[in-house]
Amino acid sequence: MTESSSLLRLQEVDLQLMRLRKTLSAMPQQEKLRAITLAKRKLAAQLKQIVGQRKDIETELADNQADHAKILAITAEVRERVSERVQSYRQIQDLESQLTSLAKRQEKLEFTQTDILQRLGQAQKAEANARALAQRLLDEEAAQTESYEHDSADLRAQVRVLEQEREGLVAQLSGDTLDTYDAACKRFGGLAVESLASNVPSTCRVKLQPAIYQRLVRGPQITECPYCHRMLVVEQRDFE
Ligand SMILES: [Zn+2]
Repeated sequence: MTESSSLLRLQEVDLQLMRLRKTLSAMPQQEKLRAITLAKRKLAAQLKQIVGQRKDIETELADNQADHAKILAITAEVRERVSERVQSYRQIQDLESQLTSLAKRQEKLEFTQTDILQRLGQAQKAEANARALAQRLLDEEAAQTESYEHDSADLRAQVRVLEQEREGLVAQLSGDTLDTYDAACKRFGGLAVESLASNVPSTCRVKLQPAIYQRLVRGPQITECPYCHRMLVVEQRDFE
């Protein structure tokens, strides 16, 4: 195979690959998988926020419980001092007033704790829901992937065959030709190469002027179209 025929075949292979990949990507399972990926990303961000909130509430609860334990300990201490009957009336009054104030603080902490526990319950429920949803998304993703793999097996087999052929074709091209081809592919959306049918390039179809035509057929097999600047394969052998 000459370099120019490898190049023309490479373009055919690439156009077929492009069509196959487009078909694969447009399969309903792929669209669902893309939606699942987005949903997973969104859920992961939500879950991170929910877990952060739950941890904050747990810290709040631990602080509340520590304060509560401290108040209970101080209360026990003050009660003990009240029971030591060596106190003066004034000291007793002072201790009683401390106990009243401690009881208020204890009550307030217990009231707050009820609220914290309620919020913790809500956060835990939200977290459990989010984790359950994450699991459902994973299950759905696995099901869609399996369905896609089943339904796309033929198309993917075609892709593999073409990719293998492509490797062989690329190996037959010079580095320069390949670089030019890659750049032209990007520029012309895959239609990088045209061939000459008599004096008309196959893609842009602008008839070559005789002088240009004569110059081109005497030049290298792979050149550039003077009009559209695609790669142009000139079949020299017909004129030799
Ligand atoms: Zn052209």
